[in-house]
Parts: sequence; C-alpha cells; structure tokens
Amino acid sequence: MSSSIAKSSAMRIAARRHRLFSSTAVTGGRAQLPAALEERVSQTLDNMKSAGTFKTERVITTPQSSSIKVQTSTKPVLNFCATNSLGLADHPTVVQRASEYLNKWGNGLSSVRFICGTQTIHKDLENQITEFYGQQETRDTILYASCFDANAGIFESLLTDQDAIISDSLNHASIIDGVRLCKAKRFRYANGDVADLDRQLQLAADAGCHVKMVATDGVFSMDGVIAPLKEICDVVEKHGAVLFVDDAHATGFLGPSGRGSGEYWGVMDRVHLVNSTLGKALGGASGGYTVGDRLLVTLLRNTSRPYLFSNTLAPSMVGAATAAIDL
Ligand code: PLP
Repeated sequence: MSSSIAKSSAMRIAARRHRLFSSTAVTGGRAQLPAALEERVSQTLDNMKSAGTFKTERVITTPQSSSIKVQTSTKPVLNFCATNSLGLADHPTVVQRASEYLNKWGNGLSSVRFICGTQTIHKDLENQITEFYGQQETRDTILYASCFDANAGIFESLLTDQDAIISDSLNHASIIDGVRLCKAKRFRYANGDVADLDRQLQLAADAGCHVKMVATDGVFSMDGVIAPLKEICDVVEKHGAVLFVDDAHATGFLGPSGRGSGEYWGVMDRVHLVNSTLGKALGGASGGYTVGDRLLVTLLRNTSRPYLFSNTLAPSMVGAATAAIDL
C-alpha cells in the first residue's frame, strides 16, 4: 500500500471515529487495530447511525421501578418498558432476602456447580421452582446464570444430528443461538401457525429424524402474542414430538396463578420442557432455569455447556428469586 493511500485510509478512519464518538482520535496508548477491522467496524457503526438503528442507553439514577429518574431529566418519569411485570425489582421483601442471603452465604461461589459451587440454597431454589410447576416426582429444575444460557445449553445437549428442531419463526434470539449450536436438522414454522408446524413436523419425519423437538416462546416478546399452546400440544402429540416452551415473558403473571403460558392454556402437563428467567417478573435480577422431565434435566446437569463451564448463580440472586416466588 502506498503511503498516500495508507494516509487517506487513516484519515477516513479518524474522521469516522470522530463522528462516532464526538472526540478526536486517541493519540497514544491504544493497541492498533488491523485497518480492515477498524474500517469495517466504523463503517458498520456509521451505517447504523445513518439508519437510526444505533443504540444508546438511557442512564437511570434510581432503583428500577414504575417511576424512575434518568440522567437526562430532573423530573421523575414513568417507566413502561422494563419487564418488571410484577413490580418486584425493588420490592422490600425481595431486596431484604437478597441482602440476608448475601450476608449469610457470601458474595459468590467462585466455582461452577459441579466442582464446588452448589449450596443448599441452590438445591432449595431448584426444588421451589419444580414445586411451582408441579409433578415433583417426575420433574426437576436446573439453574443457569440466565435464561439466555439455559437456551444456549439445552438443544445441543439433548439433540443429535439424527434429530430435528422445529422452531417458531419469531422465537427469541437466544433460542435461535441455541439452535445454531446444536447439530439437529433445522425446520422453521410461521409464527403461531399450527398448520405450518404440522407440515414441518411431517417433513422432519419424512427426513427420517429420530427425535423431533418443537420450540416456541410462550409469549412473543416483541408483540406480546401468546403462542396457541393447546393446538401446538395436539400437533406435537400427533407426531410423537417433544415440546419446549420459553416462558420468559409469562412466568410469574400469566395464567390464574402465574405459572405461565402452560397454565394459561391448561396444558402444563403436556409441555415437556420450560425455560424461563429470574430476570424479569421474578425479581428482575439475573438467573434462568430449565424445568422439565427429570431424566432430561439430569443429562443437562452433565452435558449442558453454559451450566458446566460458567459460575454458579450468586447467593443474593438466589435469595431474591426465592422471595419473588414466595410473594
Ligand atoms: N427468552 C426470551 C423470550 C426473552 O425475552 C429473554 C430476554 O429478553 C430471554 C430469553 C433471556 O433472558 P435472560 O435475561 O434471563 O438471559
């Protein structure tokens, strides 16, 4: 590259940085990026800014709640966009229990569960969640650091390249990523379209797939549409398939006693596996779980990578979640 081309490329990059960050180029102490990466990334960010899709974060100066304060305003503002559906994120009982667990059980385990990261409180919370869903004799619960992790770990662990995953077209990004990590053949059905699901299950059967797992959000996060689980269960059973539901946007408040989309449709006993979060209605902190058939959960404990290779849920979060479920 001639020195004048290199110079003009460097100037273009510096100009982009200036546009993106409203500051002049860093003069020293910065590890140099390869020009190709620097150019591509700054171009991508520039394009996002032009398209109006570049994200900035509104900084909150209070606890999360329905009325909050933000850095850009002196007045309190009403907050309709958190998934704090039960208002438990700053509930005194939840905060108090988190603080008690922090003091009694320490800040963290510095370990994954299977090495030395399981305390009685982790087993108690898993049992409490299983009890919440019922059928404790045949079901079990496994905790993750997030529902994203639960979704990342479930498909690869349970399905092989002989199997099929049939996924709703509007499923959450974490389900899409979890499916990407697994070797099963992929089928997609139109959002909530049970006739299309039936067709895709037939295609999977025709392709000779052994296990067919259907994956759907219980409630779709972007539109709030509730998946038609009754009809989905009928089709799943017709094909001898397995039903997985991500209930992150239903747990705690949908259904007569808040047990989610399965309870809402009266089909809790027909759903094989539910993944959900402790980071929305159930206290708003962090954590996720899979609840379902004990046999499958036992395999997850042994092979699910986000569980095996990531740190245990912090005691304060365990405390907050137990209080949220109690409430
Ligand atoms: N699944 C769905 C449907 C979600 O909407 C979300 C979060 O937005 C997640 C999973 C991830 O949950 P978590 O924040 O616990 O990782």
